[in-house]
Amino acid sequence: MTPLSHPSKETQHWHSYSALWRKALLIAIPFGALAFIAGWVFEYPSGQVTHFDLIAYPLMALVMIALEVILAMRGDSLRFVVLAIIVGASSFFLAKLCFLLFGSLDVLQKQLNFTETFYWVPVIYLLSFLVPGFISGRVVATAFTSLFLLVSLIYTGLLAIPLQAWGLVYALIQINLANGVQLALTYAFINFKEKYTQAQTYAETVEQFAYTDSLTKLPNRLSFNTTLEHVLKSVQEQNKKLALFFVDLDNFKVVNDTLGHAAGDSLLLQVAERLKSVARQDDVLARISGDEFVLVMQGFDTNRQVELLARRLQAALMIPFSVSGQSLTVTASIGVSLFPEHGQDALTLLRHADSAMYRVKHSGKNDVKHYEGGVDAELEKSRVLEKDLNVALAEKQFEVHFQPLFDLKKGTIRKVEALVRWKHPELGWISPGEFIPLAEETGFINRLGSWVLRTACEQAKDWQRLGWDETCVTVNISPLQFMQPSFYQEVVDALEAATLSPEGLELEITEGIMLHGSEHVLGTLAKLRRLGVSIALDDFGTGYSSLAYLRDLPIDCIKIDRSFIRDLGTPYKAPQFALALVSTIVDLANYLDIKVVAEGIETSAQRDLLVDLECHLGQGYYFAKPMPADAFRTVLFKENQEVVQQAHSLAN
Ligand code: C2E
Ligand code: MG
Ligand code: MG
Repeated sequence: MTPLSHPSKETQHWHSYSALWRKALLIAIPFGALAFIAGWVFEYPSGQVTHFDLIAYPLMALVMIALEVILAMRGDSLRFVVLAIIVGASSFFLAKLCFLLFGSLDVLQKQLNFTETFYWVPVIYLLSFLVPGFISGRVVATAFTSLFLLVSLIYTGLLAIPLQAWGLVYALIQINLANGVQLALTYAFINFKEKYTQAQTYAETVEQFAYTDSLTKLPNRLSFNTTLEHVLKSVQEQNKKLALFFVDLDNFKVVNDTLGHAAGDSLLLQVAERLKSVARQDDVLARISGDEFVLVMQGFDTNRQVELLARRLQAALMIPFSVSGQSLTVTASIGVSLFPEHGQDALTLLRHADSAMYRVKHSGKNDVKHYEGGVDAELEKSRVLEKDLNVALAEKQFEVHFQPLFDLKKGTIRKVEALVRWKHPELGWISPGEFIPLAEETGFINRLGSWVLRTACEQAKDWQRLGWDETCVTVNISPLQFMQPSFYQEVVDALEAATLSPEGLELEITEGIMLHGSEHVLGTLAKLRRLGVSIALDDFGTGYSSLAYLRDLPIDCIKIDRSFIRDLGTPYKAPQFALALVSTIVDLANYLDIKVVAEGIETSAQRDLLVDLECHLGQGYYFAKPMPADAFRTVLFKENQEVVQQAHSLAN
């Protein structure tokens, strides 16, 4: 849409001006009525009165009074009243002209009447452009001028010249010339005024585009920076504090990529509304890019208030959103920077809040963190890594390492988990905890995940060929990858390419996957299980309503998160709680016929406790750290006793 064809803007202008026009007319119309009454009253004793005047003057005065009443009583009658005046006055003047010229008056009387009556003609022109875009007014004014000219020409040709009434001819020439000039000037003025209004509208629209986010109508980054500078100035002058919240939605890309951009837009709109509902009157809320919002809070006394607002922002997003008929749960990573502690100017404060938000992303998302000095370097590193990720796959910088999962009672290897590693050419080995969140943010995880899946399947097939009959490789799947429509086919293709039977593959998903439209998730999980692939729920216990997922999700195995195992057997970390929790999970899983893996076993005490609790499988540094494929092959085909010995030495 071009800004010039913006009807709402024109209407806007019209609304703001019409009240003014109405007031002016309410004052002007009585003067018009008075002029007609005066014409009637004063012409009578002057002896110049004609039959026409006797009827037309009082009639026109009455029309004027009626129009004044209509305009006073109805606020929306401006256009009608203006048109009525133009039509009424034009008809009057034209009729008067005809009467004067063709009536039975003598030439002197005709001439006298000319001088007084037509002073008022310019009013018609004025009115015709009074109302913006009022085409009918202009048509009537132009028609009036043309008819006036036509009548004058007919009279001049037929009567004035043969009678040699040169005074009248002169008067007619003058009045028609004046009419023509007035009409031309009026048109020129209308044109100028409209062009000017259009330019103004255009400028306003451009400004609006430049400073407003077109989707949410919130201020955009440009306008936010300027506003923040202003706010900072006043906060500085009043010696007050200011907090800047950088809110970034978690896994927004999943929604956009799987449900489409319209759904993404709808979610962003709803998020903006929720955030607005939390913001107070003085707070500044803006959308500075894709799924990034910022909120500035000024004039608070304690940091506790900042904390509270951050929690309220999180809470506002927690209620599920309805997008494309689906119920979606959204979380956000929030970084906070404070003035004056963390920066003196808008850009620094924004950068620091951004870097605090990045830290949240890195430590598992869905949290609030304040800026900490020195994190900028970390932020910078993340940016470099984000950029380098794109070429890393083509340049074969990734490797898949393998960590065995043991049968806790028998001490034998039952499965092996594929864990990706990145050997950066300059920075060396980088852990997945660092680059997987970046890959998820950029969507690169899809390509990387497919590669890991194919590589793991091929490796598993190799070990099967070498004699590991019950091969089972487990592969971590990010929610973004899982939600791809082609994901199921990708699994089928990876198995086929490696000629691995589906029973040899297990996929590890996290509870976070349930946030993205449960129907699609359940459908894909069921299809995968029908194929013969098993499903494990990773990092169990760290998400939302874990126990309900045990009932709802079609899964074969759960992996109890390392944080619970870590607390087992450590006297100072509420071991009873960890023990009760792990034992409840194991009992429930046994009841539901789901296998349990304990992640992160680091000590024999932990292993013994888990055996007592009847936990089936275990994984951790106590047994073996993740290792390259060749090393795992060596471990796999050694005696069990040796395996455990090696595990001990690795753990120490
Ligand atoms: P995860 O799936 O929960 O994997 C287990 C993590 O715990 C691995 O970290 C493993 O090295 C570590 N670990 C195992 N035993 C112990 C222990 O006894 N003590 C301690 N402290 N740590 C232990 P890693 O390899 O750094 O991977 C971290 C996370 O990155 C994984 O957590 C997984 O969520 C993700 N990840 C790794 N590879 C991939 C992948 O190919 N695709 C996806 N989407 N995510 C992956
Ligand atoms: Mg895992
Ligand atoms: Mg895990």
